[in-house]
Amino acid sequence: MNRTHPGQSDSLLPGGSPQPMSYLVDGPVYTPGQASAPVGATTLFRLASNESPLGMSAMAREAILDVAGNQHLYPDADGAPLARAIGDTLGLDPGRIVTSPGSDVIINWIIQGWVGQGSVIFPEHAFQSYRIRAASNGATPVAAPETDLRTDADAILSRVTPQTRAVFIANPNNPTGTWISLDVLRDLRARLPSNILLVVDEAYFDYVQVPGYESALPLVDGPGENVIVTRTFSKFYGLAGLRVGWAYVPSSFVHVFGKLRGPFAVSRIALAAAIASLSDTAYQILSYEHNVKWRSWLQEQIQGLGYRTTDSVGNFVLFRVPGGADGAQALNAKLAARGLLCRIANQNGLPEWIRVSIGTAEAMTAFIQELGALSR
Ligand SMILES: *Cc1c(COP(=O)(O)O)cnc(C)c1O
Repeated sequence: MNRTHPGQSDSLLPGGSPQPMSYLVDGPVYTPGQASAPVGATTLFRLASNESPLGMSAMAREAILDVAGNQHLYPDADGAPLARAIGDTLGLDPGRIVTSPGSDVIINWIIQGWVGQGSVIFPEHAFQSYRIRAASNGATPVAAPETDLRTDADAILSRVTPQTRAVFIANPNNPTGTWISLDVLRDLRARLPSNILLVVDEAYFDYVQVPGYESALPLVDGPGENVIVTRTFSKFYGLAGLRVGWAYVPSSFVHVFGKLRGPFAVSRIALAAAIASLSDTAYQILSYEHNVKWRSWLQEQIQGLGYRTTDSVGNFVLFRVPGGADGAQALNAKLAARGLLCRIANQNGLPEWIRVSIGTAEAMTAFIQELGALSR
């Protein structure tokens, strides 16, 4: 059958069967981290999806129980109570905060709304959603080379064409854990044609406290109206299972996001839990301190066993396995057989590297013990 791109003209033939958009037939699919134990593993440490090792906030749990009996009622149509809580906490205009069922969905809305059949540029080892969401909307994904596993603004600019509609940068990036300064982002924005959207994904913002690292939120206010910053409650706030994210957008974008988002996008339970977790500062301090402590410990231990790591500032460590992609596959499988579920970064163009999330103290010591035994 002769499929054209884009379109469904085949399905208009009498007697034909319904056809999906051609760009949805092939193309990349998101690969989630391993989540269940292989046969024979007695313990299970989920270190493959950057989930919080602390469980959820006690205040969020309470808030969920408080609203549990009200599920016959639709939630607030546009998530305004959560936007107000975020706005109050961070000093942002709540009218420009778009809430969503996970920030991955906002990535999709941005591509639907502002990219269409155009192209999207992102660093070559970026978070997989940019490529996948672009491809599955009929847009063209374009990977820009990195320098030392770090976002390279010049390389991104060199890939700009008349088709380019948006640039996506995770800062810090997943899975590399590396970051770029606000000065570099500001300079990139200044050199980017003003009709191209710059999306800065700050999924790991709250874990970072290094000199020179700052949020790109101030860039959303101009000059120009071409920057969006996204955040999520999935990692630092421990609400991955509920699916809550948000974006801060230029005021002229709000109206279009309203159409893309549709009413009731975030559930009543998710809104309540996210609002409560924003005010749970004790949980946030613990989340930050646990991560700082165990990330540096884990990084040193892995290096001590002879592996190269990146200088990650996120809630995960990325290390390189000698012996190529096969070596990484074999080591990852052995770790999984012992209940230590990690993630090979092959979906991000790094098939020789394994990403391990910061887990509980017990998980971290078990991981190093096993990695040590497997490295001898
Ligand atoms: C985890 C992650 C997200 C997506 O989080 P949601 O659970 O969809 O809110 C977005 N960007 C990056 C870089 C991530 O690692």
